[in-house]
Formats: sequence, C-alpha cells, structure tokens
Amino acid sequence: MNLILFGPPGAGKGTQAKYLVNKLNGFQVSTGDMLRDEIQKDTEIGKKIISDMNDGKFVDDEIVNQLIKKIIADPIKTNRLIFDGYPRSLNQAKNLDILLSNSNQKIDFVFFLNVNKETIIKRIEKRKILEKRSDDDLKIILRRYETYMQTTKPVLDFYSKNPNFYEIDGALEIDEITQKIAAFLNV
Ligand code: AMP
Repeated sequence: MNLILFGPPGAGKGTQAKYLVNKLNGFQVSTGDMLRDEIQKDTEIGKKIISDMNDGKFVDDEIVNQLIKKIIADPIKTNRLIFDGYPRSLNQAKNLDILLSNSNQKIDFVFFLNVNKETIIKRIEKRKILEKRSDDDLKIILRRYETYMQTTKPVLDFYSKNPNFYEIDGALEIDEITQKIAAFLNV
C-alpha cells in the first residue's frame, strides 16, 4: 500500500509518517528531509536550492521530481511508500501518478491533515526549539504557510475528488490523529 500525508508545514505529517513506517513496515518519502540532506552534503542540488529553502519558498518541481524518481522505481520500496511533503504542486501530483503507473503502483490513501494558521504557528515554534531548524523563524513560517496554501490548493482539488481521500482535523492530539488514520487503514 502507498499513501500520501498531505497538509501544511507543522500539521504533523512527519510524526504520523514515522508511526506509519513502523506500523506498515513502510518507507518515509520526505522531500523536505531529502532536500535538507542535499544542502548538508553541499551537492550541486544543495547549492541550487539553499536560498529557496531558507526563504520558505518551494523548490523547483523538476529538482524534487528528479529526487523521488529513484525511490519510486526501487523494488524494495514498492507498495511501501509513505509520502510526507510530496506532492506539493499539481505538476508534482501528476508526475507522481506517471511514475507510479510506470512501476504498476498507485496511491491507496490520501490523508489530508487540515490545520489552521494559529495551531501551525504554535507547533512550529515548539519544533524550532527542539530541532533547531534554521528556516523556522516566525516570518518564514508564515510565508511557508501562505505558499503552501496557495500552491497546494490545486493539489487538494486534484485528490479530494478521489474516494480514497480522507480529511482529518490536524488540530487534534497526535495520538488521536494516529487512531483515526489507523481506523481508515484498518490496521
Ligand atoms: P518540509 O520539511 O516538508 O516542511 O519542507 C521544508 C522545505 O523544503 C519547504 O519549505 C520547501 O522549501 C522544501 N520542500 C519540501 N518538499 C518540497 C516539495 N515537494 N516541493 C517543493 N519544495 C519542497
């Protein structure tokens, strides 16, 4: 089974992804982690994306699409993909469909963790202290939220028509969200 965790930064996608990795013996596909890794290793991609990442802007679709291509084609990961933070644009969503069908896969569940701006701000502020993420000051947080909401509206429309789309109140406690996801998955 492949699934997508969808929702604005700070909605708790990463936390739920880690739970699902354990529960389903899956692989977390976090483009945010992959991009941070490129920066840390100072690769060619890392050099290209550092300013966008630091400004809270989205990284170019082509770069992100390229990064996930290998993962989707990897037979070890087939039907064990847990997408966290991808796709974030309509271009990425369509690219994902193509890549998955090329390897005879599909998305089985889309979970939209819907959470308002105030809750996001509180959560990211907390995470800032715990994880010391450089892009997480308040101005950037708000820009990331706005960018997310603007750019991902078409993605939301794209997936929300599907019968496998589930909206969950992202303002709930972590455990409550986990329980809801588990109930939908029947695990
Ligand atoms: P995240 O860890 O998912 O919150 O992502 C952190 C940052 O990485 C975002 O603010 C974007 O700059 C970049 N990023 C992560 N995933 C994507 C994506 N799918 N498309 C474009 N940019 C992304």
